[in-house]
Amino acid sequence: MRRIFSTFAYSDAPRDGCWWDETETRPDWPEARGDLRADVAVIGGGFTGLSAALHLAEAGVSVAVLDAEYPGWGASGRNGGFCCLGGSFMEGSGLTARYGAEQAQVFRAAEVAAVDLVAGLLARLGIDADTHSRGETQMAHSRRAMDRLRRAAQDKPGAVLTEAADLAAQGMAGPFHGALTVPVGFGLNPRKYVLGLARAAAQAGADLYQKSPAGRIEKIAGGHRIALPQGSLTAETVLICTNGYSSEDVPGWLAGRYMPAQSTVLVTRPLSDDELAAQGWTSDQMAYDTRNLLHYFRLMPDRRFLFGMRGGMMSSPRAEAAARARTRRDFERMFPAWRTVESPYMWSGMVCMAANLVPFAGPVPGTTGMFAGLAYHGNGVAMGSYSGRLLADLAQGRTPELPYPEPMQRPMRRFPLGRARRALMPPLYAAMALGDL
Ligand SMILES: Cc1cc2nc3c(=O)[nH]c(=O)nc-3n(C[C@H](O)[C@H](O)[C@H](O)COP(=O)(O)OP(=O)(O)OC[C@H]3O[C@@H](n4cnc5c(N)ncnc54)[C@H](O)[C@@H]3O)c2cc1C
Repeated sequence: MRRIFSTFAYSDAPRDGCWWDETETRPDWPEARGDLRADVAVIGGGFTGLSAALHLAEAGVSVAVLDAEYPGWGASGRNGGFCCLGGSFMEGSGLTARYGAEQAQVFRAAEVAAVDLVAGLLARLGIDADTHSRGETQMAHSRRAMDRLRRAAQDKPGAVLTEAADLAAQGMAGPFHGALTVPVGFGLNPRKYVLGLARAAAQAGADLYQKSPAGRIEKIAGGHRIALPQGSLTAETVLICTNGYSSEDVPGWLAGRYMPAQSTVLVTRPLSDDELAAQGWTSDQMAYDTRNLLHYFRLMPDRRFLFGMRGGMMSSPRAEAAARARTRRDFERMFPAWRTVESPYMWSGMVCMAANLVPFAGPVPGTTGMFAGLAYHGNGVAMGSYSGRLLADLAQGRTPELPYPEPMQRPMRRFPLGRARRALMPPLYAAMALGDL
């Protein structure tokens, strides 16, 4: 696999210290050996690939899931657990300006359907994923940002504004100028969700493989042959579900079309009632701030506090240490009463962006029987699961029943600069940070 970050990014080191790993033991899946066959081969065992595999297996299709490490190793097993609206890097107004009001509406319907899909899967599959929070709350980091939230509230059905003076009474005290709560979404333990999906897919008949990196994909009569370290997998249809861990050559079409970016998370030890009261944050609402380079945070049911942020365009032991130090610094600035509270768990992982700032779920141009789903712009708990569901329909030659926004069907464009495209990000992030002042 030819990838655009250093090998450090794709090693276990960034995920070292992940709290979720402590919360449930993962199954040991077999490695793919010999010459295997399936109707559908899924490359990547995260929310996207596992949701596709589950829905295909439930429809009676034979499906094999390959993961280079193990199902849930990627972002799906190490994210912030915000099952929320999102997926595009653009707000509703941006989507309307670029794609028209009707498609912006369809995208909005897909975002809501994605959250409903996850809620439905948790209930139907009996996955206890420690859910909490009634929707999601966006905290204004400045007065101007609060003015924007007031305007945005008018277009968001069911949204509730909280003025700065009322935040403390709601257990959301802090350096905030007010907040906007939308009633859609909830927090979850992503490891419990992703392992639950994996087990359900296997129970429905899917074959899951770990330590089985897909190599060259060769077009053959009636399908594709995927090279594996210890054999091959032949399938009529291939689904590419590798998101931030994608490579330039699996398949070659992806080259230059996806942009991985890092996100870092910390989790504290459980906080006492006195500590919670001292900071004035007692709400179990999941929350994020209005910054472009946003922070996201939530008090979990076990009273540990999770705090994460975007950023970091380099990947090396030094860059990882710096990203972790920045995350801790921002946590202490925003929640100063917890300055001495330890955060024994800290880790990072890769999200993925597209040049048109919208997720993609659709056919890979120029290759019959190959589809891809990726680029959720850091919001893939719901949208990745949803994209997997769309891919399952497409793999069966069906038009998806669920809302399928036209912008998500547009083939991903290439970023400028090819393999050096990461160089585009530091100036972009610098501009975004300036906008946050
Ligand atoms: C720190 C962090 C916090 C986040 N917080 C949130 C959040 O709170 N809410 C939210 O909605 N989203 C969040 N996200 C984003 C979300 O986790 C991702 O969008 C989502 O998990 C993507 O799922 P996926 O299945 O598409 O990809 P991944 O879960 O990344 O899985 C891709 C898999 O592909 C495998 N792979 C790659 N190449 C090959 C190959 N050639 N052969 C076989 N396997 C291969 C990898 O091993 C990997 O397991 C966060 C991400 C990170 C990193």
